[in-house]
Amino acid sequence: MSDDRMLSPEEAQQIVLDNVDSLGVERVPVLEALGRVLAVDVAARHNNPPHDNSAMDGYALRYADIKDATQQQPAVLEMVEDIPAGYVPQKVVGVGQTSRIMTGGLVPAGADTVVMVEDTRAEGERVEILEPDDEGSNIRLCGEDMRAGEVVVAAGTECGVGEISVLAAQQYTFVTVYRRPTVAIFSTGDELVEIDEPLEPGKIVNSNTASLAALCRAHGAVPLMLPSARDTAADTQRVVEMALTADFAISSGGVSVGEYDYVKQVLDAMGADIKLWRVAMKPGKPLFFCLIGGKPYFGVPGNPVSSMMSFLQFVRPAIRKVGGYSGADLYLPEARAVLDNAVENDGNRRNYLRAQLRYADGQIRATTRDGQGSHMITSMLGANGFVVLEPEQKVAVGGEVKVQLIGKVF
Ligand code: AMP
Ligand code: MG
Repeated sequence: MSDDRMLSPEEAQQIVLDNVDSLGVERVPVLEALGRVLAVDVAARHNNPPHDNSAMDGYALRYADIKDATQQQPAVLEMVEDIPAGYVPQKVVGVGQTSRIMTGGLVPAGADTVVMVEDTRAEGERVEILEPDDEGSNIRLCGEDMRAGEVVVAAGTECGVGEISVLAAQQYTFVTVYRRPTVAIFSTGDELVEIDEPLEPGKIVNSNTASLAALCRAHGAVPLMLPSARDTAADTQRVVEMALTADFAISSGGVSVGEYDYVKQVLDAMGADIKLWRVAMKPGKPLFFCLIGGKPYFGVPGNPVSSMMSFLQFVRPAIRKVGGYSGADLYLPEARAVLDNAVENDGNRRNYLRAQLRYADGQIRATTRDGQGSHMITSMLGANGFVVLEPEQKVAVGGEVKVQLIGKVF
């Protein structure tokens, strides 16, 4: 690292992304591909529909036979076959003939149109057509949805429900997706007790390991929660070494300028290639990032909100790059929102205020609650976005701001 200047969030994101590579691909059962990015083009194995079939319960017939039919003068046809779905027709529909057909039934040879049952009257083998639909009506054509051989889901696409449906229709039981990183997570601090330990005087509960693991799950990585490290160089090194079994490592705490902040020092002594430290943002200034043994290591701040913020701004893009995303998809989506309350950034670092976003009258409205301190875990409750405020920016009620989306907006 050449200088100690604070980096902008964008510069820091770029440095992180420049130092993260794909971990290759893996084959997963098709349902496991939900939320994953396809690594290869997937082509249709067969036409869909696989054959011309009926869109209605009705009668398959020759349009020429019924084109002049009316209620008063119906066309009269002879029924030659019954075609339920899943059955292969055996008879050709000849002049003056029809086959009864169910929705999904294969259109028999000879027939070019299906008239729905509501427009007919049947008595035994005798069928009256009361209303001529258009020629070719009610037939779903072979291959009109997908053609055998064409790429139906391209490499680089995130699989949502629609993609899973197409892959299943094409009988892909397994698909090739980008690997997700495993992420080792641990916290540092002599003040920490774990969530299942008694809260002794002077201690606080380690919530960061759980919240960072939840973030990993939510954003496409596989978390591995490790025991916390005490505030000594030796213990920090011990847990760092454990963490290096994963693809990425994240530690929380110990990256400030305090007397007991050992993370940077330990990683430096272990021969890490230090890439950045400190970002001009609030919360989340003391971010440390390095490569150790070629693996990305994120030292995020200990304050609970700061640790989550650093994750969302810097670790998430790295996870997504590994996961096969690129371009704007690496970053949190952004939008404009109208403020329900006034906000102000009187500092010299970019602020990210936790906000509740919702749609109202075609706009996104944003509410930021009081209590935005980086120790105020409850500021993340129900937060589905951040209001992004540049230094000195002040916006009144009803004013517009930039927001980042971190959850669904309804
Ligand atoms: P640090 O970054 O180590 O200086 O910690 C900053 C603040 O975050 C301190 O008040 C810590 O007590 C708190 N903190 C550190 N680690 C955690 C954690 N794992 N869970 C909750 N709070 C933490
Ligand atoms: Mg600490």
